Amino acid sequence: MRVVVLTGAGISAESGVPTFRDADGLWEGHRVEDVATPEAFDHQPSVVHRFYDARRAALLAVQPNPAHHALARLEAALGDDLLVVTQNIDDLHERGGSTRVLHMHGELRSALCRGCGGRSPWDHELADLPPCPRCGVTELRPDVVWFGEVPYEMERIQQTLDRTDLFVSVGTSGAVYPAAGFVQYAGRRGARTLELNLMPSEGTHLFDEARHGPASELVPAWVDEVLG
Ligand SMILES: [Zn+2]
Repeated sequence: MRVVVLTGAGISAESGVPTFRDADGLWEGHRVEDVATPEAFDHQPSVVHRFYDARRAALLAVQPNPAHHALARLEAALGDDLLVVTQNIDDLHERGGSTRVLHMHGELRSALCRGCGGRSPWDHELADLPPCPRCGVTELRPDVVWFGEVPYEMERIQQTLDRTDLFVSVGTSGAVYPAAGFVQYAGRRGARTLELNLMPSEGTHLFDEARHGPASELVPAWVDEVLG
């Protein structure tokens, strides 16, 4: 059985990672348009750098939860037949033991060079404008896909959805495209579709089945079912 699992903020929220869209519409006290758009970076690069530097440092204080660990367990059983596509920019899937993870919205622990286009693993700050390890110019930005930018590896995601038997969405609001469109795409290609989310998402009616509750409970239970 080939499985694609799409994950979103809900799975990391249970580890204590602040979600992008809290009830007040702010992300750690910032408006999205002030820290998560190319325009914000052009106008106030130091504000944007400090914001992501703080998010990167905060990763050290959080740990993967049972939902992350369960997906690693599923990968151990399914191997290449499982792909985790995450909208999250944290590294909790990897630290939970997953290796086949596609970060469609980029990664906090990576820097993108506006000079050469190279992506480099990054665990330090960017606010002090370090040089690119590849080309030496000081044009590094957070390797995060901002509003108005195209997510990574859409072609590979689409090709994987084309031949998947089961599409599972975990902890996503169903409000952010293109990820919100994956359920319909996979369903049209013949995949069964399952939502695991704290609350019914905006697209919950598009799934063949939906279960609602904490990811740290729903995901391990579902993985047990699949492996049982
Ligand atoms: Zn470079």
